Amino acid sequence: MCEGAQIGVPGGRVRGRLAPSPTGALHLGNARTFLIAWLRVRSCGGTLVLRMEDLDHPKNKPGAAGEALEDLRWLGLDWDEGPDVGGACGPYVQTERRERYAAALERLRACGLAYPCVCSRRDVEAGQSAPHTEDGLYYPGTCRGRYDDYGAACRALPAGRLPAWRFRVPDGEVVRFDDGFRGAYGQEVSAESGDFVLARDPQGAGYMLAVVADDAAMGVTEVVRGDDLLPATPRQLLLYRALGLAPPAFLHVPLVVSEEGRRLAKRHGDTRLRALRESGVEAERVVGLLAWWCGWAAWGERLAPRDLLPRFDLGLLPRAPAVLTPQVMAYLGVRKPPLPTGAASVL
Ligand code: GLU
Repeated sequence: MCEGAQIGVPGGRVRGRLAPSPTGALHLGNARTFLIAWLRVRSCGGTLVLRMEDLDHPKNKPGAAGEALEDLRWLGLDWDEGPDVGGACGPYVQTERRERYAAALERLRACGLAYPCVCSRRDVEAGQSAPHTEDGLYYPGTCRGRYDDYGAACRALPAGRLPAWRFRVPDGEVVRFDDGFRGAYGQEVSAESGDFVLARDPQGAGYMLAVVADDAAMGVTEVVRGDDLLPATPRQLLLYRALGLAPPAFLHVPLVVSEEGRRLAKRHGDTRLRALRESGVEAERVVGLLAWWCGWAAWGERLAPRDLLPRFDLGLLPRAPAVLTPQVMAYLGVRKPPLPTGAASVL
């Protein structure tokens, strides 16, 4: 465990967060997860933080950060701290917090838990023996112990390329935690993902390091998010431990999927909140549908998020993903894009 670590905000109250990424417009699936996260905090009088997770530059869409805030407000959600309202734990935009991630990386490096890696993504892809992890590439530790210091790793690369930093995952340890929705979960991180990337370069922190540093610094006590991130949580727990930070509780909730069981995509119909709003659908109709998917409303009810406070019950939330059925699409007036002539099906 590293020296000098601390948790950002002391005190026993629940602090939850909404953490949109401006990589595209928010759709019904994001909205359902954010509604659950909002209700969880608001139903117990806690504090809600909104943090914009905009580190993924190539995928960020111009204007999407502001639009995400507008879309969430349109739904009727609010937050107590965030980029537009301020707060004691700001800034609330990840690209404005880079020096904090660099400091966390330095703590890990000083403890011998981060090492420089010169492997390119292509090298790592080429080394995969099988489609390995649930959510990414397996790294066999090629550069672990290979370079004495960052300078030596830099010299091993052509000019202009910088080494990445990877986390030294303990061999053979099964990291376990009790998910507030899914129950007991364990993963042998060294076998599943191996030594994962912390930063693309000393200033280029990635999602894993940033989310841990931020949730700790912002005093987040409870993370409610989609269960696509369940397999990433053991990696994050290793970082909490290595940095001497107290982890939050985690609740991973099922996503909204297409009828074929896939993640929502444009080909399933335009379920972006913005598109629904522009086509004249009222927010109360959308929230009512989200609540119906969660088991808290009858079909066809129109509701504001605050109407759900007395009904909020995670015990009623189905274990299976919510499905974007033709009935749901018709209710919201969502049309599928036309199939190319002659195509039997497009997945
Ligand atoms: N920003 C991430 C996303 O939009 C969520 C990260 C998290 O909840 O930990 O997928």
